[in-house]
Amino acid sequence: MDCIFCKIAHREIATPLIYEDDDVVAFNDINPKAPIHFLIIPKKHIVSLAEAGTEDAALLGKMINLVPVLAKKMGCEGGFRTVINTGRDGGQEVPHLHIHVLGGPQPWK
Ligand code: 5GP
Ligand code: ZN
Repeated sequence: MDCIFCKIAHREIATPLIYEDDDVVAFNDINPKAPIHFLIIPKKHIVSLAEAGTEDAALLGKMINLVPVLAKKMGCEGGFRTVINTGRDGGQEVPHLHIHVLGGPQPWK
């Protein structure tokens, strides 16, 4: 499958990982929008949140629970923003579900 995030998750493209377990990987965004900006993705190819089903509930819960853990690990001391873009009108560019986590001193302030 020609999916860039599948290739990162399955180590076909060398991207340094912040975190990995059997179900999930996390890595820095290649085009950061904040001092800290990383992505949490499932290893399973799910196109978007709109395609996730009830069978994915445990996986989605695991990903959400990882957000504060990895935010702390990455140095988000003053909080963080969590974004899931979904579909064309949601501004999703990569069709593999991902959670954006943005933190660090806010450059827009
Ligand atoms: P979306 O707009 O789909 O919510 O976000 C996709 C994100 O993936 C963008 O912030 C973009 O910078 C990031 N991205 C796209 N391709 C790559 C890549 O090959 N490596 C990494 N690390 N990030 C990527
Ligand atoms: Zn994929």
